[in-house]
Amino acid sequence: MSLIELKKVSRIYKMGETSIQALADINLDIEQQTFVSFVGPSGSGKTTLLNLIGCLDKPSNGEIKVNNVRVNEFNRKDAAVFRGTNIGFIFQNFNLLPILTVYENVEYPLIMVQNIPEKERRDRVLKYLDAVGMTDQKDKYPSQISGGQKQRAAVARALVSDPKLVLADEPTANLDHKSAFMVIELMRQMQRELNTAFIFSTHDPKIVKEAEIIYTLEDGKLVNREQITNSDINAKEKN
Ligand code: ADP
Ligand code: MG
Repeated sequence: MSLIELKKVSRIYKMGETSIQALADINLDIEQQTFVSFVGPSGSGKTTLLNLIGCLDKPSNGEIKVNNVRVNEFNRKDAAVFRGTNIGFIFQNFNLLPILTVYENVEYPLIMVQNIPEKERRDRVLKYLDAVGMTDQKDKYPSQISGGQKQRAAVARALVSDPKLVLADEPTANLDHKSAFMVIELMRQMQRELNTAFIFSTHDPKIVKEAEIIYTLEDGKLVNREQITNSDINAKEKN
């Protein structure tokens, strides 16, 4: 079943007299529970596309369905409620709140967006801290942990509200090579275990190969869709 459907989606940014076509006529159909990457050079439209799917922005034209709901006509409040219950976000700059501990950062969406009772909240936070291997770091502040650890905490925060979909905009751009691979591997593992769909964007061709489906963007257009077969993955794991 489709999780995300885009029909003839365009996004034009108007700035005074000039306008920039960031996305042009995008058609896209992404299944539930997949591990998808958007790849393309800077300016190709990756962030714009993720923002539209994540209900952070609206298309200039076209229709977007997420989880069978038409999201392109949402007002601000509807969009916020929909995001809070259906979508987790991971950012390039981690976006952890510096005055909260790792534990409190992961707990934050459950307090702010979903009104979850205290006991269940604690169980969930501890479950996801364990899943990302951050239990022993839970009382530290973001300034006391590495970039890779910050992104692990951010993965837990994105998952704690049990979303169907996690969107990660260049999640590895501020990480060294080894940490980048570990974060992608972690997302892949979570996607398999939790049956959540992940979409991550990157301009790094080495990272992108971890995806099951790779969409390539160029100048606001989808120019290629590549499905990585199981045999490719098996071959890679043997190497
Ligand atoms: P990417 O994430 O692949 O680098 P973006 O989606 O950020 O690409 O940008 C696509 C195009 O839209 C670029 O030409 C960029 O300059 C333009 N753009 C992005 N955001 C805005 C904005 N808020 N206002 C005007 N132009 C924008
Ligand atoms: Mg971007």
